[in-house]
Amino acid sequence: MSLDRSKRILVTGGAGFIGSFLCEELLKLGYEVVCADNFFTGSKRNVEHLLNSHSFEILRHDVCMPLYIEVDGIYNLACPASPIHYQFDPVQTTKTSVVGAINMLGLAKRLHIPILQASTSEVYGDPVEHPQTEGYWGNVNPIGIRSCYDEGKRCAETLFFDYKRQHDLNIKVVRIFNTYGPRMHPRDGRVVSNFVVQALLNEPITFYGDGMQTRSFCYVEDLVHGLISMMMTAPSFTGPVNLGNPQELTIGKLAQLVIRLTNSKSKIVSKPLPSDDPRQRKPDISLAAEVLSWKPAIEIEEGLKRTISYFEKLISKGNVVSHN
Ligand code: NAD
Ligand code: UDP
Repeated sequence: MSLDRSKRILVTGGAGFIGSFLCEELLKLGYEVVCADNFFTGSKRNVEHLLNSHSFEILRHDVCMPLYIEVDGIYNLACPASPIHYQFDPVQTTKTSVVGAINMLGLAKRLHIPILQASTSEVYGDPVEHPQTEGYWGNVNPIGIRSCYDEGKRCAETLFFDYKRQHDLNIKVVRIFNTYGPRMHPRDGRVVSNFVVQALLNEPITFYGDGMQTRSFCYVEDLVHGLISMMMTAPSFTGPVNLGNPQELTIGKLAQLVIRLTNSKSKIVSKPLPSDDPRQRKPDISLAAEVLSWKPAIEIEEGLKRTISYFEKLISKGNVVSHN
């Protein structure tokens, strides 16, 4: 079964950064949307512009608890994504990924509906294969400070594939690479939001390690189009599929770019590299290109300009306080 328009879709984690864009896009496409979120890292502010739509509903719900509703498809995004948030209560992070996946898979099984899992490039850990293809099994520390997230997401993937094998569920697994854009939490510690907020407030730009580690940054709207395309594919295509922007840059280059685009007076300060911080990351997106006809359209400079403009407005409204 693939999804017709005018169906009701559940988005867990729908009040978060990516979830809020996904809810918005699904509404635009004519779906009814139920957003379920416990507001741990998301907020009602992210979806307040959707609240006057008759097709949008919001539930305060923790995916670690079962959910009994009637829907036609599920996007399972509930999980804190920034290291400081997922490390704040690591046991809860693992529970959210694993118990949350079991509950949402149970719902999908009862209703015989498709379910998409927002997995992550973190399943590749600190990769020794570069760029990362879906066939690479990863290099993950099972007992480190990132493991609650990495291993939680890996176990969730296992559960998805076991539900497919055991119950013939229509599953879709997407491995999302670093995504950025408006509505990131301004102080959630992720590199793009950190650098942009620091640059706009002329605070020191916090540079972890030597700045030579790489990431590949995808603008949120590109990512959301990929998620929806994946959900629309035939049940025989389960993934996992990488979604991300293969334009790789060092964190040092990113800092320079943000400083230039904001005309900031910020100085760079060096901080220790957190443990298990991957040295390099870049998606191979040939599978997404072939099966979903998907590739990102928004270049890093354009995406950063849109992100900067969002944070400028937030700062001018007094919603972000300077640490200076
Ligand atoms: P986010 O923290 O902004 O959003 C996560 C949302 O899930 C928040 O609204 C939060 O309140 C909610 N949530 C957390 N625990 C919950 C629970 N137990 N029950 C219900 N809701 C819960 O993060 P994001 O960047 O929007 O990420 C969304 C998804 O995409 C996550 O699953 C994340 O692992 C995945 N992902 C994101 C990135 C990225 O770069 N942004 C990369 C890889 C994977
Ligand atoms: N980083 C940094 N300064 C910051 C925040 C992050 O140098 O203020 C680095 C971090 O060490 C990592 C990269 O930027 O190498 C991306 O970090 P982020 O937390 O955004 O994503 P992830 O490490 O989960 O890919």
